[in-house]
Amino acid sequence: MHIHPRQAFLSHMAQTSPNPMAIHITRASGNYLYDASGKKYLDLIAGISVCNVGHQHPKVVEAVQKQAAEFMHVMVYGETVQTPQSNYACALVSKLPENLDCCYFVNSGGEAIDGAMKLAKRVTGKSDFVALTNAYHGSSQGPLSLMSNDYYSQAYRPLLPSVHFVDQNDIEKLNSIPWSRVAAVVVEVIQAERGVQPCDVPFLQALRQKCDEHCALLVFDEIQTGFGRTGSLFAFQHVGVVPDVLVLGKALGGGMPMGGFITSKPLMSQLSYNPILGHITTFGGHPVVCAAGEAAFDVLLSEISMDDVLKKGELFKKGLKHPMVKNIHGKGLMLAVELDSFELVQNCIQKMLERGLFSDWFLYAPNCLRLAPPLTITEEEIQWACEVIVEVFKEMCE
Ligand code: PMP
Repeated sequence: MHIHPRQAFLSHMAQTSPNPMAIHITRASGNYLYDASGKKYLDLIAGISVCNVGHQHPKVVEAVQKQAAEFMHVMVYGETVQTPQSNYACALVSKLPENLDCCYFVNSGGEAIDGAMKLAKRVTGKSDFVALTNAYHGSSQGPLSLMSNDYYSQAYRPLLPSVHFVDQNDIEKLNSIPWSRVAAVVVEVIQAERGVQPCDVPFLQALRQKCDEHCALLVFDEIQTGFGRTGSLFAFQHVGVVPDVLVLGKALGGGMPMGGFITSKPLMSQLSYNPILGHITTFGGHPVVCAAGEAAFDVLLSEISMDDVLKKGELFKKGLKHPMVKNIHGKGLMLAVELDSFELVQNCIQKMLERGLFSDWFLYAPNCLRLAPPLTITEEEIQWACEVIVEVFKEMCE
C-alpha cells in the first residue's frame, strides 16, 4: 500500500534540511515545472544547472527510449565497448583542447572530483591538494575535504589531511604553499556557491604556472559552469587557461545522473595499471545516461547560441533594477542577485513560488537569489520573470 507521496517524502525519505520546499512535482516540460495541483512554474534554476536544454527535450527523450529498448546495464565500466559511451566521449573531446582527449565517466559530480583527486595522486606520486575557500566540490568525503567551511565539515572529520586553502584571487598566498607535496589544485573558474564569483585571469594564470613549475595537476571543476551556462561551452574558454583535468557533471547527463573527468590519454591510462583497476565503477557511463547526455550535448551545439545566452543574462540584469538589489553577479545564465539578508531571499523565493517562479539561494551566499534557468528560456519569459520579481521586491518594501 502506498501512502500519499508527499507524506511518504516527509516520513520515509531522508531530508537534507529541516524545511524542504516539498512541492510535489508531477511533470516538467521545456522551461516549466508542474505540481500535483496542475500549477505551472517557470523554472529559474534548471535543477541547479542541469537541464540546460530544457526539460524533456524530444531528442533527449527519444535517445533515452531508444537506448533503454536496446540495452541498459550490461557490465561494469571499462570492460565492454558500448556505443553510447564511445560516441559521447568522441563528441566531448572534439570540442576540447588536445590535451583533454580521454574521458572517465562516473555517476555524479562529487564522484568525478574524487576520481580526479585519485588521478592526481597516482600520476604525481604526491599527497596534498590546494583548494579555494568557499568552494563546493561535492558531499562525499574526498570533495568534502576540499571544503574550507568548518560548519559543513566539522561533524565528519577526520577527512583527507593536507589540503591547503587559498582565498580566491590571493596570488601572494600561492608563494607559501608547500608545492613539492601538492598533487593538484582543484578550482572552479567561477565559484558558484559563493554567489557566482569569477576567478581573475591573472590568478588562474598564476595557478597554471605554479602547477607547471611543480608538476602538480590543475583541475577545473566545471560541474556547474559547463555546457553553455556562462555563455561559452565551458567557462575556461572565457579565460584562456587550459586545465590538466576538466571535471564535469550536472548538465553532462542531459537530466540523467552523470559525472566525468577528462584528461590526456597518457595520464588517464595510469589508473589502469600499478595497481590495475585503480578506479572502478559499476554504473559509470551507463548507456542510457550517455545516450541522454550526447543527445542533450547535440541539442546544445545545434539549437542554442552562446551569444543568446550572454544576451539573456544581460536582459535579467536590466530587468531586475530595484533598490533592494545590491548587485547582480555572474555571466550568461548563471546569476546571483544580491539582497541584504537570507531572510529577504527566503521571503522572496516564497513569494516568487506563489506567483509561479521557481528559484533558490546559494550555499555560501545565502543573501543571493539564484537565477540559472534552462538556456532555452525565451526573452518574453525573462521579461515576465523580471516584472514578477520586481513586483515581489516592491511588495516586500511596503
Ligand atoms: N562541484 C560543483 C561546482 C557543484 O556545483 C556541485 C553540485 N552542486 C558538485 C561539484 C557536486 O556534484 P554532485 O552533487 O553531482 O555530486
